Amino acid sequence: MAQARPGDAPLIHDLIGIGFGPSNVAMAIALSEHNARVGREEAVTAHFFEQQPRFGWHRGMLIDDATMQVSFLKDLVTLRNPASEYSFLCYLQSKGRLIDFINHKNLFPLRVEFHDYFEWAADKVDDMVSYGHEVVGVMPVVRDGAVEYLDVTVRSGEGLAVHRARNLVIGTGLRPLMPEGVERTDRVWHNSELLAKVDGLEGTSPSRFIVVGAGQSAAENVAYLHRRFPRAEVCAVFSRYGYSPADDSSFANRIFDPAAVDEFFTAPENVKRRLMDYHGNTNYSVVDIDLIDDLYRQMYQEKVVGTERLRFLNVSRLTGVKDTPDKVRATVTSLVTGEETLLDADVVVFATGYSPADPVGLLGEVADRCLRDDEGRVRVERDYRIATDPDLRCGIYLQGGTEHTHGITSSLLSNTAIRVGEILDSLLDRGLEPASGKARTVADGTGSTAR
Ligand SMILES: Cc1cc2nc3c(=O)[nH]c(=O)nc-3n(C[C@H](O)[C@H](O)[C@H](O)COP(=O)(O)OP(=O)(O)OC[C@H]3O[C@@H](n4cnc5c(N)ncnc54)[C@H](O)[C@@H]3O)c2cc1C
Repeated sequence: MAQARPGDAPLIHDLIGIGFGPSNVAMAIALSEHNARVGREEAVTAHFFEQQPRFGWHRGMLIDDATMQVSFLKDLVTLRNPASEYSFLCYLQSKGRLIDFINHKNLFPLRVEFHDYFEWAADKVDDMVSYGHEVVGVMPVVRDGAVEYLDVTVRSGEGLAVHRARNLVIGTGLRPLMPEGVERTDRVWHNSELLAKVDGLEGTSPSRFIVVGAGQSAAENVAYLHRRFPRAEVCAVFSRYGYSPADDSSFANRIFDPAAVDEFFTAPENVKRRLMDYHGNTNYSVVDIDLIDDLYRQMYQEKVVGTERLRFLNVSRLTGVKDTPDKVRATVTSLVTGEETLLDADVVVFATGYSPADPVGLLGEVADRCLRDDEGRVRVERDYRIATDPDLRCGIYLQGGTEHTHGITSSLLSNTAIRVGEILDSLLDRGLEPASGKARTVADGTGSTAR
């Protein structure tokens, strides 16, 4: 990217993106396709910062046989532009697998394959991203009492640098969620780090794993550890009676449609809540039925042959976890009888979910200009722009963290292609910097960063 020399006025971007996961890769593609269509004057200048050293999508959970929970047609582009050269089908063609994929008759590719697709797409727009760059803060640039620009502080191997933008798009994704009071250790993991941690067990012979949780990730962890360590017992602990299947039936699936975002956005608060209650089981705390069947089949087979390694401690809660010199001691409490069982394990994996990264956490004093609803949640407009006081002239767009306003697709891939198109339209409607075309210096240099 263009760099300001020391002493230069900062370069101004129409848009700075924070994070370069699938949401912002899709954003970069939408921008790139737009810029290829229009002249220099109408081109949007943008740059993205990603803290990881290279593209990575939930690498810790790239279990070799895990599949996507979304149709490949909901890739980074197709719903917005079915003719895009960044589609999953174009990726398959470039890899020489298009015909093999078609013969497979499968809408849900392997997760490792979709990761490869994301990486391929991210590579095609890599002139728009700096990897190994973590955004650590945002400061308002005030002119005549109004916030005209935002200064984004970025930390990299070269130290701190400040980049100026008219708009931000925050796509910082999800954070692993541990139960309150439980710290991660060498033996206490969150499933998000599964594969890296498992590699660290190479050369040891663990005898027991405990996996806490009843969602898709928990079930995948149980199946994977059971397969990978053929001499170890795997205990699944959850408060439900059994795993519940994900509702992926056609009518329910419409909750992920672009039109559902419009309806959810305009619905009254009590209807929003009801919709989440009705259809939370399309996504939350549910498991693919095929995986449920596989686990049950495995458990039953072990019962028959008398080699039980797969144990399900249902209607139970893990109420204590303590590292001992060479194990971890877990207390499992039955919710039926209150009886406590002590289990010594080599590892406890918490598959206890994720929460969206706090969307305004990075905004510093700019966050004070973001409007909140009655419940203290950030208010977001239909175009994914945070509602702010009128003196903030910049747009701060959210990709994620909008479930309370835009519905269940907020943290998912289903609507990404459409969402980035809507954000782009909003940017264009609101107008770009004059002489747009590439990052450029501030003409009069009068911008001051409020401290
Ligand atoms: C194991 C797993 C499987 C999933 N499978 C599916 C699926 O099949 N279908 C589906 O629809 N959804 C799925 N999801 C949901 C998931 O949220 C989306 O797939 C997707 O990751 C959303 O993309 P994103 O870009 O918004 O967020 P992320 O993929 O989380 O990307 C955010 C990026 O921002 C970077 N970042 C964060 N903070 C900073 C900062 N301060 N500075 C710079 N960079 C930063 C992070 O390093 C990260 O690369 C899955 C989630 C998990 C955990």
